[in-house]
Amino acid sequence: MMAAVVFAAPAAWPGLPDSTLCRYALGLQTALLLACVAVPWQRLGRLAPLAIPVLDLVAIGLLRDGSSAGLPDPGVLSVLPVVWISASSLSAPASLWLSFTVPLLAAAPWLLADRGAPVAARIAEAVLVPLMMLAVSLAMRFARARLRHEQWRIKSKEAELEVLLSDSRERERLLNTILDTVDVGIVAVDADGRRLLTNSWQAQLEESAASADRPNAAVPAAGPAAAHPPSASLTDEVPEEEGRLVLTGQDRNTPLPLERRPIHRALGGESFADYLVCFGEGPASRVVSTGARPLKDDADDFRGAVVVFNEVTGLVDALAAKDEVVSTVSHEFRTPLTSIIGNLDLVLADTEGLDSPVVRRVEVAQRNAERLLALVSDLLMSASAALHVHPRRTDLAGLVEASLGSAQAHAQASRVSLAMEVRGPLWAHVDPLRISQALDNLVSNAIKYSPDGGSVRVSATTGDGLVRLHVEDTGMGMTAADADRVFTRFFRSPAVRDGSIPGAGLGLSITKAIVERHGGSISCRTRPGHGSTFTLELPADGHPAAS
Ligand code: ADP
Repeated sequence: MMAAVVFAAPAAWPGLPDSTLCRYALGLQTALLLACVAVPWQRLGRLAPLAIPVLDLVAIGLLRDGSSAGLPDPGVLSVLPVVWISASSLSAPASLWLSFTVPLLAAAPWLLADRGAPVAARIAEAVLVPLMMLAVSLAMRFARARLRHEQWRIKSKEAELEVLLSDSRERERLLNTILDTVDVGIVAVDADGRRLLTNSWQAQLEESAASADRPNAAVPAAGPAAAHPPSASLTDEVPEEEGRLVLTGQDRNTPLPLERRPIHRALGGESFADYLVCFGEGPASRVVSTGARPLKDDADDFRGAVVVFNEVTGLVDALAAKDEVVSTVSHEFRTPLTSIIGNLDLVLADTEGLDSPVVRRVEVAQRNAERLLALVSDLLMSASAALHVHPRRTDLAGLVEASLGSAQAHAQASRVSLAMEVRGPLWAHVDPLRISQALDNLVSNAIKYSPDGGSVRVSATTGDGLVRLHVEDTGMGMTAADADRVFTRFFRSPAVRDGSIPGAGLGLSITKAIVERHGGSISCRTRPGHGSTFTLELPADGHPAAS
């Protein structure tokens, strides 16, 4: 700007070169410009460069005298050095003092000396620019203080973030270690089925079940578990890729359709537990019990799911071996028992010539042999994995009537009255033989567990494509804990075990298996001393079970 003034002066302000103060000002400016370049400021200390803006203010002060030579007041140029001073590392009071006093001292003597203008105008002219510079410096200082505060805030936030980040890294490491230590497989998927996490146990399981003839194995086809560092890692598989795994049903042979696979079920929003599937096929397959829970966000929207895989091959094999033994032994018992019962029947068919005590003993032997045969049949059925049902259109009212009819003698002997509140025909899509067996079990239990007599009522309701049969008694009932376990094989309530009521604890588990084979369900409502109600839910006719 000084250079522009110098160049423009001859034409614009011819009196300017004659002003001594202006010449000093321009000379000082030139010296300062050279000093800026020539002096090694870095070596002279932190505050040394401030000599430039201070002397610049002096030069501008001298130049202000040029206004008398027709030059517009150049005092406003003081803004530039004042900004420099205010932005420097100088303390706030020092920079405010410099910003005010240097422009004042540099220009005041000559401005005040101007005898042509009134005193008040001269004072105002001398003080106005220093005051403006003080205001600029103050504003700069405030802006700087604010900036510093913001910087400090950002820095402290940064420090907090750093701490949080290191905490979360620590947690992630801990989580990964836990995930890789546990003996179960864990998979987390987002709502689109992309894998968010697969722990190393699961990676190994999937590796063993990856189909060899399908090129895109769900997990790398080769390499040990260590080839997945970090094992609980982020991957971006799509749901279709689950199809690369060979998954079969519990028979270890039938391929599991995609929609029945645990991850697909979980992605459908299902929450389940103890869902058995086999990874791989044939004898080398691994039976895995799976469970899933949906992941929801704050708005309760579905964001994905976590699926857990727990290998139960050993347990399933042991149970199968046990069932095999039970069914072989039961089978071996049946033939001699049938022969014993047949012979006893023959003896009782012609009791002439036999003493009545002998006949009574033979009858006792026959009753016990029949009980033994019934027990062996129950054992055989509960051990047999394949319980076949052949559902067809069946009148349940007829089955209930037949069941109550055959229980009549037992009920009379136990002083229990039987009532049927089922209006026929009541059509359902069931296997009549199996459902009769289930009803017989429930009715005979209702009588058996009413040791002091009472009443047994069978009623029915319909709705939602289901037929519900209720077998209600006024007998001994059960505790809630007993009711929870009542459908478990070999379970007998402590009260019953301590008493003398015979039984093996198999009837209800068989009944449950029969009902579930039909796609139905069974439930129990009971209170100790107030009787029990067992409810069968079966598909109504026209609603075949989705087995
Ligand atoms: P079992 O009758 O041969 O013991 P179940 O499987 O039929 O075997 O029944 C299992 C157990 O459930 C019984 O031992 C008994 O403790 C309880 N239970 C079943 N039905 C009833 C009932 N109607 N009232 C009270 N307890 C019952």
